[in-house]
Amino acid sequence: MSAAETPLAGILKARIAAQGPMPLSDYMAECLLHPRHGYYSTRDPFGAAGDFITAPEISQMFGEMIGVCLAQAWLDQGEPGHFVLAELGPGRGTLMADVLRSFRKLPALHAAARPILVEASATLRARQAETLAGERAEWRDSIADLPEGPLFLVANEFFDALPIRQFQRDAAGWREVQVGLTDGRLTPGLTAPSPIAELDHRLSDTRPGEVVELCPALPAIAAEAARRIGAQGGVALVIDYGGWHSRGDTLQALSGHAPADSFAAPGTADLTAHVDFEAIARAWSLADVAVTDIIPQGVFLERLGITARAEALAARLSGTAQSAHIAAHRRLTHPEEMGNLFKVIGCHPAGTAIPAGLWPVS
Ligand code: SAH
Repeated sequence: MSAAETPLAGILKARIAAQGPMPLSDYMAECLLHPRHGYYSTRDPFGAAGDFITAPEISQMFGEMIGVCLAQAWLDQGEPGHFVLAELGPGRGTLMADVLRSFRKLPALHAAARPILVEASATLRARQAETLAGERAEWRDSIADLPEGPLFLVANEFFDALPIRQFQRDAAGWREVQVGLTDGRLTPGLTAPSPIAELDHRLSDTRPGEVVELCPALPAIAAEAARRIGAQGGVALVIDYGGWHSRGDTLQALSGHAPADSFAAPGTADLTAHVDFEAIARAWSLADVAVTDIIPQGVFLERLGITARAEALAARLSGTAQSAHIAAHRRLTHPEEMGNLFKVIGCHPAGTAIPAGLWPVS
């Protein structure tokens, strides 16, 4: 083991030496959530001092706008007296805290909400408990563990953290990317080509050499949300970076706000991939829900009134605090910042009003 090697690199190399190369999805899962050495298991990566910054950490306005959207859906659906307010992958708990604070303007809404955080990392659960001190928050391991009932669900930068499989098109089928050892280093390689049933529909729109990605955990998570919402009411909002239809290698590693090598120091960099919103929409469509169009985050926030909110907050600030606030508004909404890179999609029970800020598929 070289001096610079991370503990997780040693563990993965030993496993590959004994058992052979592993699919990229297994590698990613270990890097992110290995119980002792995984990226999310060992740190709070958010904010200026961390590796990346997310929308809720940029400004309270992000969570407030999500709160407005959920509150309107609650009113539109007859103000259910009890509902599960769930967040997938809640990071520091900031978004949930901002949503709950906005709910306090409607006391009956706040009283009806049962906030539940679906979080895999014990370290981040502790951080979320600090942020949400004073709220009756609960934690679960997976969406399947949520209590039944109307479900108001938010997932911001959750699906991009789920492990992906990558496949390179070959004349005879698909070669899967797997992580093996070359001269003692972790390196990506390719399996021999074989047919992959889940990718049969991509044979017609790809050419040999092109890469497509699959997120194996995504369909079941998305379908479970839509089943509950279709049968019991509620709404799901997914905000993430990505697009419609997976195409190309989108795996990326970030460390200290800079791109890193995905294979050099496992467990120390955030690994993400673009979210294929088409896969979410397809899983949702199996339930009795209406699926909205996919729209840019900036447009969604503008339609919910973020600029009026930004102006009201700006009037109470001055000097550098005011400039930082204005920059945060720009960062969340401007097309050259997060406004266009990040997309939003939602689903709601068939026959109910579309969630505020979103629009139907044309
Ligand atoms: N939504 C937050 C954090 C995004 S980072 C924000 O916007 O700031 C991804 C989050 O998902 C982290 O909290 C991470 O620990 C969590 N996570 C990753 N994989 C998970 C899984 N399989 N189940 C539950 N949580 C997971």
